Amino acid sequence: MGCRSADKAPKRRGLQGPCLAIGLSLLLAAASSRCLAESPARAVSVAGAAKARGANPADAAARCRALHSFAMPQLVIEEARIVPAGPAQSLPGEQPATARGKMLPEHCLFIATLAPRSGAQGQHLGIGVEVRLPVNWNGRFAFEGGGGLDGLLRPSYGSVFGSLRPPALARGFAVASTDGGHRSSSMLDPNFALDQQARIDYAYNAVDKATLIAKAIVARFYGRSPRRSYFVGCSNGGRQAMTVAERMPLQFDGVVAGDPTFRFTRVNLDQAWNEVVLARSAPPDAEGRPILSRVMSQADLRLVADAVLKQCDALDGLADGIINDYRACHFDPVVLTCGRAKSSSCLTSDQVTALKALMGGPHDSQGRPLYAAFPYDAGIAEPAFYHMHFGTSANGILNSADGTLGFGSLRYFSMTPPEPGFDVMHLDFDRDLQRLEETAMISDANSVYLESFARHGKLILYHGLSDQGLSPLATAAWYDRLQAANGEHVGHWARLFLVPGMTHCGGGPATDEFDMLSAIEDWVEKDRAPDRIIATGKSFQGVTRPLCPYPTIARYKGGNPQDEKSFACEK
Ligand code: CA
Repeated sequence: MGCRSADKAPKRRGLQGPCLAIGLSLLLAAASSRCLAESPARAVSVAGAAKARGANPADAAARCRALHSFAMPQLVIEEARIVPAGPAQSLPGEQPATARGKMLPEHCLFIATLAPRSGAQGQHLGIGVEVRLPVNWNGRFAFEGGGGLDGLLRPSYGSVFGSLRPPALARGFAVASTDGGHRSSSMLDPNFALDQQARIDYAYNAVDKATLIAKAIVARFYGRSPRRSYFVGCSNGGRQAMTVAERMPLQFDGVVAGDPTFRFTRVNLDQAWNEVVLARSAPPDAEGRPILSRVMSQADLRLVADAVLKQCDALDGLADGIINDYRACHFDPVVLTCGRAKSSSCLTSDQVTALKALMGGPHDSQGRPLYAAFPYDAGIAEPAFYHMHFGTSANGILNSADGTLGFGSLRYFSMTPPEPGFDVMHLDFDRDLQRLEETAMISDANSVYLESFARHGKLILYHGLSDQGLSPLATAAWYDRLQAANGEHVGHWARLFLVPGMTHCGGGPATDEFDMLSAIEDWVEKDRAPDRIIATGKSFQGVTRPLCPYPTIARYKGGNPQDEKSFACEK
């Protein structure tokens, strides 16, 4: 790929080929790269700097171009150009792709990379940062977290994987994002983690540096700093959100952490556990390897979901397909065990054993839990759950998300030093835990000491009770620890909302559409605490439900069953 033109919409990609050469050459202060001569953008940044500084500050296009002259050691600016108002482009990794087609306002797009370089295996390393600055600014800054193993500089619309409607940019926020310190073609590529600095960047440093750069760009473009700063993210973006509250406590006034991978290394451990325990019940392929997709079928899991609903749905006062009172739901799949032969209405004892081990989470040989259990919820029959653990492979080559993303992440990142050849299926849940400790120290956002943050900031966490990969009970356990460490008044600055039926960051039989950005904004700026957050969802047309602050749950009190007003948040 060639170098970008300043006046042409770029194809999104990593720093590659000649453009990586630009980065490296500038880094080495050798400004005579071939691409410098070819790139209009670069020409503006170097030769046009003086001209840009003299531009009329009222002219947004000129102020945007002038960002090419923004100077910071080792920062290589790739773009600074006005994007006219229009529909959003598709987002790589977006699921669902709901930001696509949404109208965005006229804004200045700024893209840069801090210290671009090549890793030993040719990885594109360096901290990428993108900032979108609406011409009609509301005075606020939002940082949008990433996902998976990052590696993509996703357009900073502030849509949080399409779940935030309208996106923060369309609301007038200046929005930033980062690639987590490396660029790849996929959020599943763990190769960056063979590089020491890239591991540190992904763990926490990319968000830290990108925040400082983005805030400086905001101040340069508008002539003043943002009056409020917010961080919103889900999944790894949720981990980053908790990371900023715990490691950069003065940078953000409001933080929203969705379905957070905050115990990153233990999530990887859980992913290994899942495949190890399923393998015990799996038939072998011709080479003797376990075929995980043959342990259970989607129909078997539908059977489980129906049984869970039958036992637990009405515990909240209303049989509506939503299990609010998950704590009173003591479902045991043993009730589904076949009396005789396996049929479509029962599970074999091997299947029951496998499912119980899967849902129970990882344990050591003494039975001590190493992460968290998962609640039995209506979303267990979702394809996302099946794909996460079982996959579709008809042989012993794993293609579940646990076996691909999880194993790769474990081998390359969670283990220090990395062990790309590690045989995960033979992981020792006693002895091998220590191999994760060093990474845990930099990546896991498990601290409950938030003294500086609590004095000025507000934190909203949310987590789907049917999250197929990250346990909502782990997030609830963190909140319990936060409360134990900070006292009852913790609810004055941090609240957790569990979302029944919602799979990872959205989806499932759930009211999974809600506006956490408005909720945190009201809390920070108007001192209006979120006592209940109204949610809707495609699975329940015409229905509204309250999301309740943990540990309360929504209980039906009578009245219109469609309406959230018929529910009270109670313990
Ligand atoms: Ca219910």
